[in-house]
Amino acid sequence: MKDVIVVGGGLAGMSAAWRLRDTDLMVLEASTRIGGRLRSERRGKYWLNWGGHVFGGEGSYADKLLQEVGVASLDLTGSFTALSFKGKTINGGNINLYPFKLPLSWATRCEIARVGLKVMKAVKTYGKVNKPRKGEDYRVRQQRIYDFMADKTFSEFTGPISSDADAFFRPTVSRSSGDPEEISAGAGIGYFLLVWDKSAGLARNIVGGAASLPQAIAYKLGDRVKLGAEVVEVVQHDDHVEVTYTQDGNEFTEKARYCVMTTTAPITHRVTKGLDPIVHEALGQIKYGHYVSAAFLTNETVRQSWDDVYAYCTPQRSFNIAFNMSNLVRSMEAGNRSPGSSFMVFSPATLARNLIDLPDEKVLAIYRKDLGEVFPGFEKLIVEQEVQKFRDGLAYCFPGRNKLQPMLTRPAHRIYLAGDYLGSWYTETAIQTGLLAGEDINSKLFTDDLLPDNGFRY
Ligand SMILES: Cc1cc2nc3c(=O)[nH]c(=O)nc-3n(C[C@H](O)[C@H](O)[C@H](O)COP(=O)(O)OP(=O)(O)OC[C@H]3O[C@@H](n4cnc5c(N)ncnc54)[C@H](O)[C@@H]3O)c2cc1C
Repeated sequence: MKDVIVVGGGLAGMSAAWRLRDTDLMVLEASTRIGGRLRSERRGKYWLNWGGHVFGGEGSYADKLLQEVGVASLDLTGSFTALSFKGKTINGGNINLYPFKLPLSWATRCEIARVGLKVMKAVKTYGKVNKPRKGEDYRVRQQRIYDFMADKTFSEFTGPISSDADAFFRPTVSRSSGDPEEISAGAGIGYFLLVWDKSAGLARNIVGGAASLPQAIAYKLGDRVKLGAEVVEVVQHDDHVEVTYTQDGNEFTEKARYCVMTTTAPITHRVTKGLDPIVHEALGQIKYGHYVSAAFLTNETVRQSWDDVYAYCTPQRSFNIAFNMSNLVRSMEAGNRSPGSSFMVFSPATLARNLIDLPDEKVLAIYRKDLGEVFPGFEKLIVEQEVQKFRDGLAYCFPGRNKLQPMLTRPAHRIYLAGDYLGSWYTETAIQTGLLAGEDINSKLFTDDLLPDNGFRY
């Protein structure tokens, strides 16, 4: 019998596996690639990227893990608030003045200012709610964040607005993978804090690409990580867990004292048996939206307007954000600018629903056209391009999601849950829940054998 089986080789799974590396461990990953929704590939000094890319900075769980594993990361210096809308691109300056720099009617500008003020006021309050309090348990903070404006959607909070005014708010909110009509007002407000205040959240890139972190861990774990191993059933018994998986057309069953499930909530809900029924029920209620993304490599040889920008908001297009993934490389160059750039665009929520069933070539053609309008001449610079579709792109926070949190975080017996759907900070939650599951199992494993056999189960 193994000590632990970790199901899933994404960020949560590899974080748990890292903590459990001194145990008799097995990691089962269904696909042939480590990283899950972190997907990046190196191209010389650049990297193409299709999934998660910005991580928590100093003092975060991401920071801690990166340092422990020995993978380099740097805070981004590029702007997060560039905007391309109505044929104009604005980068820098006071974001409150953006509506006045664009060809919009005075009525629309007033509408944006009215809603903008409301959002800013709420962001200020959210900033306080989000701040960790001295001596407080992370679970208490997480619940407070979920409870913030949890009873209505973001669009109910803003009230009805015209489509040009809506374009100022929708792209930021729908990064959650839910539309403003779907996600809770509080979660929508949280996204504005992330964009407007880099120090509040996620603003760091991994040198060489996001997937370097889970891949470095997998490398260190060697053949304890099994790829192409799809778990079909995980049964919790009183004193062990039985995990059934398929690999190369064969079915295997392996026993372990503990198991960490790091698959998305729908998969965990489907394959686990014997879980606390309340936890199981809550897993079935988590909602996901789609994401479609694409990576582009270019070959220009001179400085570009996007060099100092990390993120462009691109309302009313097929994608609503374009990321300059080479921004970190630019910030590391002391002298000459190297040729080329790497870009990622992505389409969440309704934008993704419009694209996800189209052939990749068609998606790329739509993206290229829009990129050419945002950055004239871009199409001629492209030397490589590839689409990635994520059906369960991200679990978004809907009104009432706060009530599931106490159910999802009930004490684990033999099966632990980890993954980004358990909190509000995406990669940060994935790492945190993975590490904490690993730490709890470590402490149980080393004391399990000492427990008297009195039938008591914690
Ligand atoms: C386009 C995009 C952009 C994003 N941008 C950011 C960002 O900038 N910052 C940020 O913080 N977050 C971002 N995110 C979210 C971030 O990528 C995720 O929060 C994080 O990667 C989730 O990690 P995870 O381990 O919880 O889940 P996953 O990465 O989904 O890992 C689950 C793993 O389980 C495997 N699996 C599934 N079924 C089985 C099975 N039956 N048996 C075995 N294995 C199985 C999967 O293949 C996968 O490898 C983004 C996501 C997307 C899609």
